[in-house]
Amino acid sequence: MNNLYDNMFMFHVEHRVGDNMNKNKMMLALNEARKAYKLDEIPVGCVIFRENEIIACGYNKKESKSNAILHAEIIAIEKACKKLKSWRLDDCVMFVTLEPCMMCMGAILESRIKTVYYGTKNNNEQMYDINKLSKNIKLFNLDDDECSKILSDFFKNRRKK
Ligand SMILES: [Zn+2]
Repeated sequence: MNNLYDNMFMFHVEHRVGDNMNKNKMMLALNEARKAYKLDEIPVGCVIFRENEIIACGYNKKESKSNAILHAEIIAIEKACKKLKSWRLDDCVMFVTLEPCMMCMGAILESRIKTVYYGTKNNNEQMYDINKLSKNIKLFNLDDDECSKILSDFFKNRRKK
């Protein structure tokens, strides 16, 4: 399995399809995104796992808490550190419905999370240069239709308002 990941990392971000375990974990992150949607927040959700145990969940609360940094990933990392009583999350894996922004990628690197699965690519933001990221992190785009649909639905509805 490790070899497979290493090979995939040569292409930096790979699409992985047909992996039910990952799909199920992403669906839990999607449930978090739905909570954000209900609060009129950009629907992004995140779950951090250690092996198959859920360590922490989070969803975007930027608007409801009037706080620019309260992205789903930041909230989940903060909860995970509290729960594990450690800032090192190096044995954890993150599932997040949208490709992390630069701020969250910084937090992910600081927390030593080594593997991140994201549901859909972030095309709206100025992103980090994936080639310059630490070799210690692996990113996988699961290219999940539901993760992109919840975002497009949200922005469609917002335009109508
Ligand atoms: Zn972010």
